[in-house]
Amino acid sequence: MSHDQEPDHDHEPDHDHEHRGHGHDHESHGHPPGQRHPFQPDLEDGPYSWHMALTDAVADLLLAKGLITADELRRTLEDIDSKSPALGARLVARAWVDPAFKARLLADVNAAAAELGIDAGPIPIRAVECAPGEHHVIVCTLCSCYPRLLLGAAPDWYKARAYRSRVVREPRPVLAEFGLELDPEVAVIVHDSTAELRFMVLPERPAGTEGWDEERLAALVTRDCLIGVARPRVPAA
Ligand code: FE
Repeated sequence: MSHDQEPDHDHEPDHDHEHRGHGHDHESHGHPPGQRHPFQPDLEDGPYSWHMALTDAVADLLLAKGLITADELRRTLEDIDSKSPALGARLVARAWVDPAFKARLLADVNAAAAELGIDAGPIPIRAVECAPGEHHVIVCTLCSCYPRLLLGAAPDWYKARAYRSRVVREPRPVLAEFGLELDPEVAVIVHDSTAELRFMVLPERPAGTEGWDEERLAALVTRDCLIGVARPRVPAA
């Protein structure tokens, strides 16, 4: 989504903006797989937005003044792009097997992540723990604040107005649309992220995982589990 209509939007310094043309179904156009579609727009064919211009201008200035080098800029972007939900899954798996680590994670996600060699960035992240009778889900109602230096880029739906506006008002129907049907007696707690505080969900450890090692446990924890629109599930044997 784009904030092009909001040039004064400054809620979050590290928004990511999708400037590429929308993906489309190559199969439906009847050309062989792997062949470039003749109507696929180049990146430069999309609109040059206010945020793109600002980004380019600031980067050019920083480079021209010698405050950063092109290699430093590239490495920083590469580092950001290397973040993924797998890092959050490692934290969850460790918390499931190590109660002392879980306590530290709930106290300070960024510090707990550093214990595992993960740099979760400078913005504080809080872990919210699901329990029997209590489910947690994350949103940014204002824009798209997300712990991206831990979990990577947010999914498109997280940035969509429909999710942002609806999940706070009617979380149960929204979760049901994700396939997560919660019993009526389960309390749903919605956390609104900001530029100063991000969240990740610490889901319940699924039954039937007794004795599993961390790597196997981590594989159950998907991005959507960390946002709270899904629960870890043990694959059917
Ligand atoms: Fe935001």
